[in-house]
Amino acid sequence: MRTSVGAPRSAVRLFLTSAAISAVPVVLLGLVLAGNYRAQATDRGLAQGRSEAVLVARTTVQPVLAGSPLDRGLSPEERAGLARVVDRAVRGGDILRLRVRGLEGRVVYSDDGSGFDQTPEAEALRAAHSAVITRLTRLNGDSNDTGPKGVTAVETYQPLVAGTPARPVGVLEMYLPYAPISQDVTAGLHALYRDLAVGLLLLYIALFAISVRMSRGLRRQVALNAFMAEHDALTNLPNRALFHRRTEIAVTRARRRKRSVAIALVDLDRFKEVNDTLGHHNGDHFLVGLAERLAAHARPQDTVARLGGDEFGIILSDASEAEEVLRGLRDIIETEVEVNGLPLSVEASIGFVIAPDDGTDVHTLLQRADVAMYVAKAEHSGIARYDKAKDHYDAGKLELIAELRHAIDDGQLLLHYQPKTALARGTIDAVEALVRWQHPVHGLLYPDEFLPLAEQTDLIHRLSEWVLTTALTDLKGFGPTASDLAVAVNVSARDLGRADFATKVATVLARTGVPPQRLIVEITETALLVDPARAVTLLQELDRCGVRVSLDDFGRGQTSLSYLSALPLHELKIDQSFVGDMIENSAHAAIVRSVVELGHNLALRVVGEGVETPEVLTMLREAGCDEAQGFLLGRPMPADQLRRWMATAAPGPVTESDLEAVLADASARSPNI
Ligand code: C2E
Ligand code: CA
Ligand code: CA
Repeated sequence: MRTSVGAPRSAVRLFLTSAAISAVPVVLLGLVLAGNYRAQATDRGLAQGRSEAVLVARTTVQPVLAGSPLDRGLSPEERAGLARVVDRAVRGGDILRLRVRGLEGRVVYSDDGSGFDQTPEAEALRAAHSAVITRLTRLNGDSNDTGPKGVTAVETYQPLVAGTPARPVGVLEMYLPYAPISQDVTAGLHALYRDLAVGLLLLYIALFAISVRMSRGLRRQVALNAFMAEHDALTNLPNRALFHRRTEIAVTRARRRKRSVAIALVDLDRFKEVNDTLGHHNGDHFLVGLAERLAAHARPQDTVARLGGDEFGIILSDASEAEEVLRGLRDIIETEVEVNGLPLSVEASIGFVIAPDDGTDVHTLLQRADVAMYVAKAEHSGIARYDKAKDHYDAGKLELIAELRHAIDDGQLLLHYQPKTALARGTIDAVEALVRWQHPVHGLLYPDEFLPLAEQTDLIHRLSEWVLTTALTDLKGFGPTASDLAVAVNVSARDLGRADFATKVATVLARTGVPPQRLIVEITETALLVDPARAVTLLQELDRCGVRVSLDDFGRGQTSLSYLSALPLHELKIDQSFVGDMIENSAHAAIVRSVVELGHNLALRVVGEGVETPEVLTMLREAGCDEAQGFLLGRPMPADQLRRWMATAAPGPVTESDLEAVLADASARSPNI
């Protein structure tokens, strides 16, 4: 793990950010509470002032009133009584000023003689009838408002009632000092708000702690996401994207320092078989262990990445001993390990380039490393450096084969189907699947352009399996008119070398649900001769599965006739080179006739392929050939085109005389592609 010098600084930043974020709600809450505090202090002060005023009215003023309305003025007894009690109260400082008004609001008594000339106040009148009105006021000491200037007072108006029965007689206007009231109130509120402040502080601490935790969690998640985007989920090794980026950096750095760097691609040989036989779970298990071993053995300045499947990439920042270092890593890969109690070992092919000698841009370097890897595979050398000078390898073709590997996964391969026509009935009873590659740059490629190279590597196994699966899947879609239609699939010599080939075929049949008799496996005579003993076993296995076997390109090899009779075969396909020129080459015509007879004597169906003219077709029919295949009868075509072609095909003729017409019709309908 690399540590970062920025770590303490980022911790301080995290701390400060969290502090600022958590302060926001606390400060807002504090402001709201403070505003509330002020409003509450005033409200409480007024309420207290009001109750004091009511008390003064009841205990001091009302008892000295006789009960007649005061608008007409006070009686001398009332005036004397008021003067006595009011003087005492004003002198004691409990009351700042006091006036008594009549019900119409006129002043009839004032403690300091002020206000007699004042117009009645609206409040005073309203109060006279019902409520007590209280408000805060600031005395200014003018003629209306004598009294201590600048002092805040609670100004109240309230009805005065007197007599028996009690009735409203006037209004009491009174000014009480606000200071002692507010002192009282604020003392109580202070205590309350002190508690609140402590609460706010605790809230702040809690929010701060939560914010720190959350930011830390978020940062961790962001860091994890960034890691996942650049690493392989299974092995935690850098993925293809990071490998490319690091290659770019390594190449640039090497150029600047005038040093060289090595880039290697590793492909496990036959890893697919590990997956297929031991299951993906064990395959994954193996890959994880392998990644750990590679990472442990790689030098700290180097990179080991997983590019996908069983492909790895290596960057050696110092290329001086590249080959030895890679050889060491290859030994690590090939060491036998135990996976769930099973001893397991794989082989690896490594191709590498050295920058800047083998290229300077990442794309070229990686493509050449890929090419070198295929050279290593094809030559079984384990490790190979890219070598342009090797003239027995066409670099262009090798690049093509490097691309083919991705083409299978990217869906660039397709199958064309060519009809095989039964000559006796004129019906199509089988189609042969022929592979093509829709290359993004080179256009549609035919098998001879890429199959020979694929056959030099294990890639042919993946290709054959793809062809088999696709052909059997397509077969089910050819419609009800094709319910007995069989599909013929070509297999290569290398497929025959696989011990599990027949099992593989049976698995794909079971998976696609196609009855085995609807599959024909075409094996060329030359492929059969690579390992005849192995071939016999395989053909027997396929026969037991119920699959038919056709011997393709018959006549090109030199199969001994006794050997031919010992093989469980169903069909002989006479090679095009004999059929094509039957008319002009009488020797070839004689061979065709003999092979038909030979095949029939061995109870085999005989097929003539490469039929391009009606004359050849007629000659084949006269020779007793069972089936014919060729451009005359139908060119290889994509599946959906074949489907349409089959749907419009007329039912086969029953008499031989109809045959010519139908064949002519078939050749007219045959799409020219
Ligand atoms: P093949 O098995 O002998 O297939 C017949 C080839 O002859 C096909 O060529 C077909 O297009 C061509 N052909 C058919 N009728 C005529 C005709 O009337 N005249 C002429 N001149 N040619 C005709 P294609 O498709 O180029 O395939 C070439 C070979 O590649 C095949 O020969 C087969 O050996 C191999 N191949 C094709 N598909 C596959 C595959 O999926 N797997 C393997 N292992 N080999 C394949
Ligand atoms: Ca064939
Ligand atoms: Ca053939």
